[in-house]
Amino acid sequence: MKRTIQISIIALLAIIGTSFGFLKKTTEESSLRDQYSDITSKIVVRALQDSNAYQRLSIMCDTYGPRLSGSKNLEQAIDWIVATMKKDGFDTVYTEPVKVPHWVRGNESLTLNSPYQKNMSVLGLGGTVATEASGVSGEIITVKSFDELTKRSKEVKGKIVLFNVPFTKYGETVRYRVNGASEAAKHGAIASLVRSVGPASMYTPHTGGMKYADDVKKIPHAAISLEDAEMLSRQCGLGLKPTVTLKLEGKFLPDANSRNVIAEIRGSEKPEEIVVFGGHIDSWDVGQGAMDDGGGCIAAWEALRVIKQLGLRPKRTLRVCLWTNEENGLMGGKTYAKLHAKEIPNHVLAVESDAGTFKPRGYDFGGSAKGLEMARELCSLLGIIDASSCEEGGGGADIGPIMEQGVPGMGLIVDDSKYFNYHHTHADMVDKIDPRELAFCTASMAILTFVAADMPKRIPRK
Ligand SMILES: [Zn+2]
Repeated sequence: MKRTIQISIIALLAIIGTSFGFLKKTTEESSLRDQYSDITSKIVVRALQDSNAYQRLSIMCDTYGPRLSGSKNLEQAIDWIVATMKKDGFDTVYTEPVKVPHWVRGNESLTLNSPYQKNMSVLGLGGTVATEASGVSGEIITVKSFDELTKRSKEVKGKIVLFNVPFTKYGETVRYRVNGASEAAKHGAIASLVRSVGPASMYTPHTGGMKYADDVKKIPHAAISLEDAEMLSRQCGLGLKPTVTLKLEGKFLPDANSRNVIAEIRGSEKPEEIVVFGGHIDSWDVGQGAMDDGGGCIAAWEALRVIKQLGLRPKRTLRVCLWTNEENGLMGGKTYAKLHAKEIPNHVLAVESDAGTFKPRGYDFGGSAKGLEMARELCSLLGIIDASSCEEGGGGADIGPIMEQGVPGMGLIVDDSKYFNYHHTHADMVDKIDPRELAFCTASMAILTFVAADMPKRIPRK
């Protein structure tokens, strides 16, 4: 009997021991999902109940218009954001000065002279030189690649090169926009045109950044619609030798003053540790920059507001940053890295939304293999809104300069199947954004950044 009792006590202790071990394990590993399920549900409900995000996006876009670096529109939009953020009652709201390039478009036109007369839709590419006031006139030669351009080099001199390259992926097709002018100029072209970088078109040219090589003559460079690019190619195929007159007035003014906008909820236990997240507040000078990247900025700002309204305060500091000048200089991201150099070791995570404002699918992650494991766990929290994908490799342009210094970075992934129909065009206006999808983006950013700022461990850098 005595022995049986002894055995039973030992067994009981063993069971208790195992149980404690088991309990310990669950608390540590327990999924962030268990620990934060309550908060994630509250965030989702709040973000989806609220129409504030869409209202603010429309107020910003409809009052100030597109926000090109150096423009009054951009600075007025920033003034409005700062004033409105202060009313939201965050712990800190401030701006930091950033010098930005100041390119202006001026007036522009493209006329088909032959085989028939027609005014064509055109957008000079950001950074292009102007034509002479009377324009540049010449015969079109169309090519489908840089290789074809080289092969037909002898035919190019004195002509206007049109790169009629169908859209595959943005990263691939965009090189004709970025480098087309200098490549064409090497073979003696007098100007260059690019079929807009997008999969579909309703006669909508896309602008965007371009570069000139140092040692090559700078020739005017502009984007035309998919429809006109195809027509000019057909006309060339028929031997009709189409000719056009291109007039551009693009020029650089002296660098201008702009600002990054910062708003924070300070951490309750480790305020010196920071999760920074946001989008870029500048845009191109067409449309309203509603999805590129007004929606990304508003989603981040609203995420902070939802957290504040729910009375949540994470252990670490949550910092929204709306970076300026992503489109044609990246000076906002670069200046942030310089001004916050001392804080970089304390940046726990950087998150950017700049892939359009559509239904979120998850995040991509740039950082170490161990970091990726933790990022996957963070993303699993987003199963609640069916957005738990976590892809290896990524981040964002504005957070790039701090990621280079070791800060783990994540970029919001959305269903971008329609993004490049509107990107950098006059069609990027508020009507293209679905309020509910914007609310899901807000919820996704609020959950990810709150938990990253509150969870026991930091995302490992190595
Ligand atoms: Zn963008």
